[in-house]
Amino acid sequence: MRILVTGGAGFIGSHLVEQLLSLGHKVVTLDDLSTGKLTFLQDVINHPNHVFVRGSVLERSLLNEVMDGCEVVFHLAAVLGVKNTVENPLKVIEGNIDGTRNVLELAYPRKTKVIFASTSEVYGKNECLPFREDSNRILGSTKKNRWCYATAKALDEHFCFAYAEKGLPVTVVRYFNAYGPRANVSQYGGVIPKFITQAIAGDPISVYGDGEQTRCFTYIDDTIRGTIACIDHQHNNEVYNIGIDNVISINQLAKKIKELSDSNSQIIYIPYKSVYGEGYEDTPNRRPDLSKAKQKLNFQPTTKIDEGLRKTIAWYRKNGMENSSVQ
Ligand code: UDP
Repeated sequence: MRILVTGGAGFIGSHLVEQLLSLGHKVVTLDDLSTGKLTFLQDVINHPNHVFVRGSVLERSLLNEVMDGCEVVFHLAAVLGVKNTVENPLKVIEGNIDGTRNVLELAYPRKTKVIFASTSEVYGKNECLPFREDSNRILGSTKKNRWCYATAKALDEHFCFAYAEKGLPVTVVRYFNAYGPRANVSQYGGVIPKFITQAIAGDPISVYGDGEQTRCFTYIDDTIRGTIACIDHQHNNEVYNIGIDNVISINQLAKKIKELSDSNSQIIYIPYKSVYGEGYEDTPNRRPDLSKAKQKLNFQPTTKIDEGLRKTIAWYRKNGMENSSVQ
């Protein structure tokens, strides 16, 4: 197939592009390199089946051009990161909503299949675990910028399903804390790359709050397998949780990263308010119900946290933080 990947030079995007090419597809990558990096695509930049185009999903005529002849669009281009959300709500809202609208509007007349990268963040602070695809979304006040990313992505999902009802083939995937080589750097969130950098440098490992909040960290290879499984048209008009269901607290994560990187770093505790200001609300716990993805996509995450962290630490040791994504 000929496939367009928006945001294909980012952390998840670049792994997806590599995998699609190795499966024999032709790939067009569109990325404005605002946070993605060409070095992430260095192994495939000259691949005969790959074309890289520098540009944004906000440039409609360019998007229209690159979509031509493509049977599938993986739409990953997005403005993300907790810090971004808190500090640049306008950028987050416009980037996510206008970009997705452009992709869907241009895909619609061609009936090009769209696979939209959403997020487990849409479930918000719902405390009924695990999250099923049809679980409620519980978000805080609109006066709290923290919730604008979840809101924008949820509206994007509504856009997707509204187009699906009009006959556009669309599948939505909700990612649960993907990590691995090239993962986002600390500046805009991403606790694993941040802890790894701190541990390697011997700097204090900064746990926010009491560290008892939990997540399910999903190794990138599993994230990519789940995403590609959605290509088939039997998954149109569906949404899938893509993640792993092994829970770990941020305290446990800090200890693990310290051990696995053989670090002397101290683990320190920082109140949320000194990082994000007064009134910040963290998601206390997040865990996916994977039964739908397992049953319908035949999706089974296989990488255990120790193995994934070892590979990620090795990558950061080899490549240094300056080569990772600045998201
Ligand atoms: N976190 C932390 N220290 C950091 C960065 C993040 O303790 O330096 C915590 C953060 O408060 C959250 C968890 O790690 O509870 C996961 O954060 P991340 O930004 O990676 O993803 P989220 O799941 O919040 O979107």
